[in-house]
Amino acid sequence: MTDGARVTDTVALPPDLAVLMYHYVRPPDAPMRVGAGSVDLVTFAAQLDDLQRHARVVGWPDVAAAMTGGPRLPPHAVLLTFDDGEDDHHRYVLPMLAARGLPGTFFVMARDPAAGLTVAHRIHVVLAHLTLGQLRGAVLDRLSAADQARFRAAEAEQARHPFRDPLDDLKWVLQRDLAAVAGPILSALVEGLVGPEPDVAAALHMDARQVADLHAAGMTLGGHTADHVWLDFVGDAEARRQMGASHSQLERLVPAGGWPFAYPFGGIPVDPGPLVGSFGFTAAFAATATDRMDRWRLGRVDAETLGPAPTTHPRFAPAGAARAA
Ligand SMILES: [Zn+2]
Repeated sequence: MTDGARVTDTVALPPDLAVLMYHYVRPPDAPMRVGAGSVDLVTFAAQLDDLQRHARVVGWPDVAAAMTGGPRLPPHAVLLTFDDGEDDHHRYVLPMLAARGLPGTFFVMARDPAAGLTVAHRIHVVLAHLTLGQLRGAVLDRLSAADQARFRAAEAEQARHPFRDPLDDLKWVLQRDLAAVAGPILSALVEGLVGPEPDVAAALHMDARQVADLHAAGMTLGGHTADHVWLDFVGDAEARRQMGASHSQLERLVPAGGWPFAYPFGGIPVDPGPLVGSFGFTAAFAATATDRMDRWRLGRVDAETLGPAPTTHPRFAPAGAARAA
């Protein structure tokens, strides 16, 4: 099976480089509740303490330089990445990184909160108020008979290769096959349970000014599409529209270029290089660990799985990589 990798996509990065992936980083009383995983602020501070003692936190420019024949990365280099342009990142993460003089890479969506939430984030907000079964029932009840049949067929198909967490199975169905019809239903649920969706989006995500603040503070901005779509699913025209939105956003904010990209949901198109590269991105990150030294499939470890001392965790250190003294 060919997967589109080319010799020129191969990059030389040290095997002990670790890339951590964060989403929500927040205290229990963050402004907008979500039914989704998060790293609490006490754990995040402990993780940063551990990384500063036992590893070397580097920025995207360091990694990008090392990929292109520039200075090598130090031993036990760690890149911190934050997805989805959450308000958490401006409110909590930015001050914590800035106080320690640490760099971060933020994969922001090319959208304004006035456009409302993506389907994925509607689900996060609704699940702060409904159980998984209630969410499934609420969506199913509101679908037409034909779409109910499609929903059940997609569920049956997904049941043949289920995720570990049933929540991910429902998300898979709602965000892919059923996204067009489930999207408005999820919007109505958000409005009914919490309030007007643009207000919810403004509380959950950064606006353009806050994103610009990250850049002004020396953080790296990267692309994550406009609507948090599965790029392996939406088709070429829609994938190009989504990438184009990210390109336009970053061209305004960071005209020097050299941007990284992160695939929403880790959905990697069959041949990612020509798509992602043609919109000015120089590398792209997956959402799971991978040992591929391929600039379009750089692996990451979910920081939510690591606890307060990441450098002691076997998922953090590749086999054979000794812990730094
Ligand atoms: Zn994302």
